[in-house]
Amino acid sequence: MDGLLHVDELVSQWLAAGWDKWQAFVCLTFLDRLRARGRTADLPWRLAASSLTPLELSFISAAYKPVKTCLSQVNVSLTIESDPEPTMKLQYANGDRLRLADIDRLLEALENITETAHVFDFGELVQNLIDMCRRAVVRARPTLFNHSDLSAIQIKRVIGFGEDWSAPFDIAFQVGQHGGNQLDYPDANEYTAAQRAEAASRLQHARRIRSNHVHRCFRAIPHEIIHCLQSRYHHVDSNRFNWGSEHDASFVAGTLLRVGASWARQDDGGDGCFIAAGVLEAVLVEWLDEMVHLCPLELDDELEASYLAWRDSFGHTAPRELRGVQATLFKDRIAWEHSSNDPEILGSQLDALFKDRTGDLYQYPPPPGDALYRRATRCFKVDTQPCSSDEIDQWIVGFRSIHSLEQ
Ligand SMILES: [Zn+2]
Repeated sequence: MDGLLHVDELVSQWLAAGWDKWQAFVCLTFLDRLRARGRTADLPWRLAASSLTPLELSFISAAYKPVKTCLSQVNVSLTIESDPEPTMKLQYANGDRLRLADIDRLLEALENITETAHVFDFGELVQNLIDMCRRAVVRARPTLFNHSDLSAIQIKRVIGFGEDWSAPFDIAFQVGQHGGNQLDYPDANEYTAAQRAEAASRLQHARRIRSNHVHRCFRAIPHEIIHCLQSRYHHVDSNRFNWGSEHDASFVAGTLLRVGASWARQDDGGDGCFIAAGVLEAVLVEWLDEMVHLCPLELDDELEASYLAWRDSFGHTAPRELRGVQATLFKDRIAWEHSSNDPEILGSQLDALFKDRTGDLYQYPPPPGDALYRRATRCFKVDTQPCSSDEIDQWIVGFRSIHSLEQ
């Protein structure tokens, strides 16, 4: 037998089973993890807790149920074995082994259904993320912000020029109109051929334009919300490429996303939250993946030094003009390296940007480093190391609780 069903048949099965877009979204990330470990054609497809990074482990703990449900719709079974250590096992429901080609077909079929136009409603997602960020900044620092401050923000879909030369601008998020009250978002459902080509040129998986756009929305909106606040606080950036304000918007964006999402899940009671199980964790895992992939490709020694100088001067030492993908990488990386899930750090990062700070950004010395940097900064390279034994112990508890639910 030629392994699993063919791609078209898998798509039909998923459609007939009433597939869920968020389950499919996290399943892509899950199968990527597995695929990355597949070097031969007939692996047993096991993922042991000790082979995962802490970030991957937190993703898999959160995504286990939606991934299991999604795969069961095409007769693939995901189970957990607890001896000798917590291990996940993927196979056909009838017990046969999955081969590398089968994983590739599953991935291709998932791409086919998630890349269908209007599966994801980006306007709705952007609005939900704005509301999440708005609530989080007020909750973290009610002394600095209030709800009415931020309630005027409107969203508008980018129309763009639609020319080849304008594609990088047509697919960019932007704030600036109407005193920082308008946030322009690109809609990957409406891209022209040139815009699709531009978006694809930045991707590891070139077909995943729409699912990748979901990732971009999660990363971009917290950044853009800080730009909205900069307008309110009359921040002025004399650098030609706005490297000071770009630093600041990125500096707090990762924490705003993580803390904001955690509060949204608490407030909206898990299943009622717009962030489905495993989705935030998938965003974080892919974010790190992308940086690990792109940094060595895009940042030579000179650019790496330039990045560190910019980061460690709190945005005062501006890089030179950078290509689009490099500039995005600088911003994404600073957001990652300062991201935390600690609400107190969100508060202190917002203080660093907005407390008694208005006008020319360069008139203020960098805030005292230790309190701010060392508490929050985690070099992204750290997160690519396998788990320590303490971390495994901690996560075994989580795995066991999933396992016991299955008994
Ligand atoms: Zn920006």
